Amino acid sequence: MIETGSIEKIAYDITELRSRFPILGREVNGYPLVYLDNAATTQKPSSVIDSLSAYYKGYNSNIHRGVHTLANEATEAFEKTRKSASEFINAGEKEVVITKGTTEGINLIARTWGEANIKEGDRILVGAAEHHSNIVPWQILAEKVGAAVEPIPLSQEGILDREAFKSMLDESVRLVAINFISNSLGTINPINDLISDAHHNGSIVLVDAAQAAPHIEIDVKAIDCDFLAFSGHKMFGPTGVGFLYGKYDLLDQMPPFIGGGEMIDQVSFNGTSFLTPPLKFEAGTPNIADVIAMDQAFGFVSDIGFDAINKAEKEIVDYSRSRMSKIQGLKEYGTAEEKIAVFSFNLEGIHPFDVGQLLDAKGIAVRTGHHCTMPMMSDLGIEGTVRASFAVYNSMEETEKLWDNVERIQKKYGSS
Ligand code: PLP
Repeated sequence: MIETGSIEKIAYDITELRSRFPILGREVNGYPLVYLDNAATTQKPSSVIDSLSAYYKGYNSNIHRGVHTLANEATEAFEKTRKSASEFINAGEKEVVITKGTTEGINLIARTWGEANIKEGDRILVGAAEHHSNIVPWQILAEKVGAAVEPIPLSQEGILDREAFKSMLDESVRLVAINFISNSLGTINPINDLISDAHHNGSIVLVDAAQAAPHIEIDVKAIDCDFLAFSGHKMFGPTGVGFLYGKYDLLDQMPPFIGGGEMIDQVSFNGTSFLTPPLKFEAGTPNIADVIAMDQAFGFVSDIGFDAINKAEKEIVDYSRSRMSKIQGLKEYGTAEEKIAVFSFNLEGIHPFDVGQLLDAKGIAVRTGHHCTMPMMSDLGIEGTVRASFAVYNSMEETEKLWDNVERIQKKYGSS
């Protein structure tokens, strides 16, 4: 049995909280579902699911520029999500662009700010553990303008190596694009220090906060990043919704991203003028229902609060680390002290895919493979890992189940 205190006592009523997620009641392969693939996408509470159908049943309408009641109701609900997003990260409302997700947010910056500001000979520094969506847009940009993309090395523990980073900085570094938390390792980067080093060098900083949003408080003013992107579906909201923060002055100077309706001021064949940010970057009919439902996800996280989330998560991290240290032949990747409950590991003598399938046979969903961080896997000399990633609704009982099963698999199929 678990010796540590239980989440139920120290943080929130997990039984009540789990009951808000209908999917958590299902079985997989005859076992209760243990969903530990939250870094890929989280499950959705009833409040989010209900909000989607409430929109379609009650006030489905296109937003902005409408005079009728339904259009006004939809616009108001849509803009309420922008307000919640801005409060969630402590930004101004005009500094939050609604996107399809982190990937679109990063591509938007590469295509607008990037094409206007990155020139031949410039360098773009990205973390060695970035998700492909924070590497590939910069490579496409660099190819176009004749710039270079260079990886910032990781420390042994799997966070960005600050000293190595500082030694790479010079006037050619126009942009630094780094994650707040690594999706493959769960490690939390010393974002304040890195941003301050980059700014001291005169570089602009984009933060990929896809994994940070559901786990730790984000305050864009406190960390002083220039751009920050995150996705709704990784924090209990629907897919197809994301948010891009930019300091207003930067957004204001940027050329538009895609052109079309919603983002224009006046259109004529003699020339077209655009709206001011954020609408300047939101051409076309957006994902209205999902954006509206996302407001419920912000409410869900804010109601629990990050103090409680962090407390519960620390329990899981401490317990998991003590279990992992006792499993023969288990190698953990991402051993930094500062980390969220994302555990990447391999078992000696067993392919990660096999571990994933054996866990699935017991109803435990984990992800296996390179987790969209192929360069990092290649640095580590491995093809991939098994990744168990937790969310607020995962209990200590589920945590125990995971490690009991990993231990069983290792004993039965492992080579050490
Ligand atoms: N960045 C990180 C760190 C991620 O973990 C992910 C998704 O796994 C992304 C970016 C891409 O997010 P999305 O697919 O929601 O655009």
